[in-house]
Amino acid sequence: MCGIFGITDNKDASKLAYVGLFTLQHRGQESAGIVTELGGKLLHHTSMGLVSEVFTKDALESLKGRSAIGHIRYSTTGSSHLKNAQPLVLDSYLGQVAVAHNGNITNADKLKAGLQKNGAIFQSTSDTEVILHLAAKYRGRELEDTLAKNLPKLEGAYSFLFMAPGKVIGARDPSGFRPLVLGKMGKSFILASETCAIDVAGGRTIREIEPGEMVIIEGGKALFRRFAPAKEFTRCIFEQVYFARPDSVVAGRTVQTARYEIGAALARELKGLKADIVSGVPDSGTVYAHGFSKESWIPFQTVFMRNHYTGRSFIQPDQRLREFTAHLKLAPIRDVIKGKTIILIDDSLVRGTTSRKIVKSLKKAGAKKIIMAIASPPIISPCFYGIDTPNKDELIANKLAVEKIRGFIGADELHYLGLESLVHACGDQKDRSFCTSCFTGKYKAAL
Ligand code: 5GP
Ligand code: MG
Repeated sequence: MCGIFGITDNKDASKLAYVGLFTLQHRGQESAGIVTELGGKLLHHTSMGLVSEVFTKDALESLKGRSAIGHIRYSTTGSSHLKNAQPLVLDSYLGQVAVAHNGNITNADKLKAGLQKNGAIFQSTSDTEVILHLAAKYRGRELEDTLAKNLPKLEGAYSFLFMAPGKVIGARDPSGFRPLVLGKMGKSFILASETCAIDVAGGRTIREIEPGEMVIIEGGKALFRRFAPAKEFTRCIFEQVYFARPDSVVAGRTVQTARYEIGAALARELKGLKADIVSGVPDSGTVYAHGFSKESWIPFQTVFMRNHYTGRSFIQPDQRLREFTAHLKLAPIRDVIKGKTIILIDDSLVRGTTSRKIVKSLKKAGAKKIIMAIASPPIISPCFYGIDTPNKDELIANKLAVEKIRGFIGADELHYLGLESLVHACGDQKDRSFCTSCFTGKYKAAL
């Protein structure tokens, strides 16, 4: 997963891009970058690490210009390397063009092979660069004409931000897998992966970019243009389950509200369960547990203290330090745990390694019984659209039945939420069209 943020017509463009990316940091911690435009030239700073590590005050001040686009990366396609950090900047017949991408282009390898046969030389191993090479080859008069011609050749998931001298363009794939929202702040337009970034930057959200739609921001105006007919909206349900920040609005609902209701729905599905307390695996599991507690009347208690300062650059531990590092991030609060039957809620179970560690830690702290309840169905199929669950063999629910998974994680009981309850709680009345392929193995769009 990745996060993107862009802003136009603002004297503090690079600083606001920093604020936007900082707010979207939960979407990727591997690399960060910002591109600004000054007098027709694109200025560029990208590096590996967190937003706060990548941009010093000096680096931000050197990014002069009134427009900016930025990116934070969580690698799914292409290796974890600086050359894959975004935004990518390339010289083209239209001058310099920069691109920032969230998603996964499923036919990138095929397109790349065709382009290379015709002489294209790729700078990165990421799937994103393909669109720039296509744009260089099949040209239109303006960048937006070129994009309208070439975006339909891409398959899979993409929310893009492009920057060329004088303009910023946002585009969303015809299925709308990945989010992209438009906001306004005074004369400035903002494009962002999530509404929380628009809020924190001080703007207000106007609307989502529609599937198959482009927005061209130029000369202080936003122009909307369709490059493909909208297919059925199939936005990724995992945004609601795990990725999006709780204060963002997705599919007409604040994520916090959706997760609270999902927690309540889980309590209804598991009616009759007896326990002393209900708790969540921090941070993402907590709000589900609050919803569960409200519905079941079982009191909520915090069982883990989360340390928010562990960061990304933590040195990989050796065997001797394993236990210590597990507690470094989540430390059990013994007094709350000892002798209790605990319903423990997490948003999802992917490989099962997190749950296994957590159950072990609670048992060691004296828990009597652990009832693990997952706020989504078993993940049985890989995501080809940008979530990092690429390998079927790594998905525990693809290999083992629920009872076997329970045994693996060491819990006394294991329960999952039904898909229908999840979908119902995620969308508003009008819009419940989600991609649920990780739970069903059914892929609506072409791979
Ligand atoms: P597991 O140990 O079962 O593989 O991981 C489940 C945990 O990972 C859950 O606590 C969930 O919040 C978290 N999770 C789910 N999806 C992702 C993801 O794409 N990236 C990361 N880093 N964590 C995830
Ligand atoms: Mg988690």
